[in-house]
Amino acid sequence: MQKLTGIAASSGVAIAKAFVHEEPDMTIELKEVQDPTSEVDRLYAALAKSKDELSVIKDKTEKDLGADKAEIFAAHLLVLSDPELVDAVKGKITDEKQNAEYALNEVATMFITMFENMDNEYMKERASDIRDVSKRVLGHLLGIQTQSLATISEETIIIAEDLTPSDTAQLNPVFIKGFATDIGGRTSHSAIMSRSLEIPAVVGAKEVTAQIHTGMTVIVDGLEGLVILDPTEDEIAAYTKKRDDFAKQKAEWAKLVNEQTTTKDGGHVELAANIGTPKDLEGVINNGAEGIGLYRTEFLYMGRTELPSEEEQFEAYKEVVERMEGKPVVIRTLDIGGDKELPYLDLPKEMNPFLGFRAIRLCLEEKEIFRTQLRALLRASAFGNLKIMFPMIATLDEFRQAKAMLLEEKDKLVADGSSVSDSIEIGMMVEIPSTAVAADLFAKEVDFFSIGTNDLIQYTMAADRMNERVSYLYQPYHPAILRLVKMVVDAAHNHGKWAGMCGEMAGDEVAIPLLLGLGLDEFSMSATSILPARNQLLELSKEELATFSSEMLSLDTAEEVEQRVRETYMK
Ligand code: PEP
Ligand code: MG
Repeated sequence: MQKLTGIAASSGVAIAKAFVHEEPDMTIELKEVQDPTSEVDRLYAALAKSKDELSVIKDKTEKDLGADKAEIFAAHLLVLSDPELVDAVKGKITDEKQNAEYALNEVATMFITMFENMDNEYMKERASDIRDVSKRVLGHLLGIQTQSLATISEETIIIAEDLTPSDTAQLNPVFIKGFATDIGGRTSHSAIMSRSLEIPAVVGAKEVTAQIHTGMTVIVDGLEGLVILDPTEDEIAAYTKKRDDFAKQKAEWAKLVNEQTTTKDGGHVELAANIGTPKDLEGVINNGAEGIGLYRTEFLYMGRTELPSEEEQFEAYKEVVERMEGKPVVIRTLDIGGDKELPYLDLPKEMNPFLGFRAIRLCLEEKEIFRTQLRALLRASAFGNLKIMFPMIATLDEFRQAKAMLLEEKDKLVADGSSVSDSIEIGMMVEIPSTAVAADLFAKEVDFFSIGTNDLIQYTMAADRMNERVSYLYQPYHPAILRLVKMVVDAAHNHGKWAGMCGEMAGDEVAIPLLLGLGLDEFSMSATSILPARNQLLELSKEELATFSSEMLSLDTAEEVEQRVRETYMK
């Protein structure tokens, strides 16, 4: 049996014959055009055809998958009308007498390289939007018929180098049982689409197109991130069982959608979701989240050329609190810097961006940016249960300054006659070890804590969260991390406050028993982890785990902790 390993992008198991989706040959030659005017007309005709096609795909996606999934095609339509792109291509045709294909390819490649070189996932995705759109237009200019995945009408697994949003939008889940790609990560468009279509998928498996041919039987194991080529009868039988077991498990989880989260001993914890944009709300609602534990507002500021206005922010925050219908929504103020850059702020490059001028540090300095966001948040608070938290707090003084600015803006808004809720909770993220160690000092002044383990682990272990070579030190179950979590939870409870967690650790099945035992009140995670977590908690007793977790604090290593949790609670 040959196995290829990739990234598990969407859970489930699929077994079917492969269809290798090949890129058509788009060789482009430079030609000197004699009549630039008619060449520009040819460009416009190809743009118009592409627009028509995209409008059809957009409407179909809206109908089949919902308005939020169709937004990507609205973005693609915008690329087609973007004067920066279209005028640059036109310029090359009229000034340099280049043929339309060549000119378009040159300009698109320039934009793609620019976006790809930005150290930021979101911007990298903009590069793939331009690649997808320009390929469509080039297809028309070159007169190439692109392969349609929409016509596949038997059970199939798609194998491709990558799948563009227009490819994934054509997939009919009745026939497309799974897919595997050479490139891509968990946050690539194809991975996101596979999760919303609930099609098992493995991305970034490097050699799938080289090793698999159309007609070969393959298995996509989206639980483990494996692609199995030409399986034996026994393997097919084993994976058929795995597929059916998973389907049964999902059906069990689905029954918990409208249930409260309860533990075996009748306790309650809150399971909330992390979101990046209002577009994520559908998944949040479908997966039965009891609130939003982290709304990362920085995405509102990214992928554009200027800061979002107060009005634009107000609309986004209002939409989220309204759609959550009174459930708590914790909105984090701007956390820019580190791996999230805003090119238009033109900040100087730093030696250690994760230890540099970011998040609350930047907001306390760039006061107008911060105050605009605070006003938008305060105004939105009148429409639901909005809570505000500040990121990357290191000292009490920072928290006090941020809170004072918030209260000043509130007073001004109220004086001007705007409605603002009077019961907004104001909290902070605990992601810098100084705040965990001195949590008792902070607990007197905050309304809540939310532990950001993604950063807290990197700062505690001095191991960059983006650096593969030191990833062995990135240890969520290390007793040092567990002790910090305990300090934060205990400090909150001693002052009558609540403590949540919004780092990835909160949705991790090994961490969940430990965190429950340490007394965590709220667990905020990606929407698709909520139902499995709710199901897991049904079997866990808070009281019993309190004793177990305190024993874990004095084990020697993260490995021992993990092993003890697995053998005691995950059989
Ligand atoms: C964290 O640090 O755990 C966190 C949730 O914030 P981010 O991942 O956005 O840095
Ligand atoms: Mg963080």
